[in-house]
Amino acid sequence: MICRLCLKDSASIASVVKLFHNSDLNIIEGLEVARLIKKYLEIEVTHDDVISTMICTECHGHLKEFHKFRRNVEERQCTLRSDFLQIQVKEETTNLIASNNGNDCDRIIPDTWGMEEDAPDYQMDIAKSELDEEKAENDQPIFLQTSDMNTNSAVDKGIFPNDNDLTGALKTNEMDTLLQYAQLLKEIHKLKIDIRSRDETNQNLIISLTEELVALRHEVKKQKVVFPPEEDTSLLPPMPFYSFEDFKIFDGKISLEDDMRVQLKSLILRLGGKDMPSFMKMAIKSIISDEMAVGLTWRGTPEKPSIQEFATFKIIKDICQTKYKNATIADINRVCQQHVVHAKDRVGKKLKKKEMALSI
Ligand SMILES: [Zn+2]
Repeated sequence: MICRLCLKDSASIASVVKLFHNSDLNIIEGLEVARLIKKYLEIEVTHDDVISTMICTECHGHLKEFHKFRRNVEERQCTLRSDFLQIQVKEETTNLIASNNGNDCDRIIPDTWGMEEDAPDYQMDIAKSELDEEKAENDQPIFLQTSDMNTNSAVDKGIFPNDNDLTGALKTNEMDTLLQYAQLLKEIHKLKIDIRSRDETNQNLIISLTEELVALRHEVKKQKVVFPPEEDTSLLPPMPFYSFEDFKIFDGKISLEDDMRVQLKSLILRLGGKDMPSFMKMAIKSIISDEMAVGLTWRGTPEKPSIQEFATFKIIKDICQTKYKNATIADINRVCQQHVVHAKDRVGKKLKKKEMALSI
């Protein structure tokens, strides 16, 4: 027989390790060696292997040594990972609290963090070894979900080695805490994204409201130009006057009381009128009714006073002159004279219209 691995003749080698056909005591070890050969060297040795079902002690030594070496490296890497994670978790927590810039929690988990199963020891029971192999096959990447936070479920899924010794238990707890940290960080991250999206929504709302406000202000400004605001007329009596006595009292006050005069002037200024004559007629009519104007004259008689005597009339004339710069005083006077003279005719026409309306 030859060594299945180095292919040296058994005659030239001191002793051999039989993989199968062993005594009961060595049967487990033999099968375990076959498993390791398959695992590390990718050579599948079966019990009816045509080449050989044994290996030399030298090859066996190499295999055992390599297995030990591999386990040692794995253990060291695991320690490194948990130390690294602890530092990372601390940093991430500090960063998250200190700054508003979100960090991706996922990156604290190294990509290669699919913890491999500890390979079973030589003395390990064969049934457990098969079970472990199954676990290794089902080894899945770690998902940070609440169900995984449970130590038992994590162990069940083969994420953590189910070591019963104290060190193993501590490591499991440590990992559990780290997972909880990571989960917490993920939740914080999610919340931050949520807050950020809300901030964005609010920001957009504020922007659109501001735009609307600006548009409204603009609109109001435009409206103000078209319709001058209602001015204060609180000091003025109801006009036009129908009673000459009331008008005389008002006219007396208007030359004495500044505030009242200001209100009257602004009222007259706001009157329209396509030209000077129409403005003058409208202005006089808004203060002196035609019915009252019948009792006035242009030049004045012992019975009927002249319109020119009154302060109110002078105010109207002044405003007209500032409004229509091209109109001469003679023009303005002529319009006023006609207005006063024809007051009687206008009242007569109005009465006729009323009578006609009543007769119908
Ligand atoms: Zn060999």
